[in-house]
Amino acid sequence: MPGKVRFCFHCDGFPCDRLGHLDKRYRTKYGMSMIDNLERIKKVGIRQFIRHEKEKWTCPECGGILCVHESQCLTCLNQWR
Ligand SMILES: [Zn+2]
Repeated sequence: MPGKVRFCFHCDGFPCDRLGHLDKRYRTKYGMSMIDNLERIKKVGIRQFIRHEKEKWTCPECGGILCVHESQCLTCLNQWR
């Protein structure tokens, strides 16, 4: 139903196979889970989730934004993972 599903967990199929495969790849390769993230958003709300994520993805060395796909900070090249 268009406009009714804001987050994957609003869908009856959550977590679907497609999301499951993506989640598995990201858990293995990048150490993060979008299914866990979605469960957290459902539990604590998007605002608190974003506050926490903003902290989590900030470089401790320079305050730059960390990218999930890169093990180095793209600003200062600090190896963070
Ligand atoms: Zn940095």
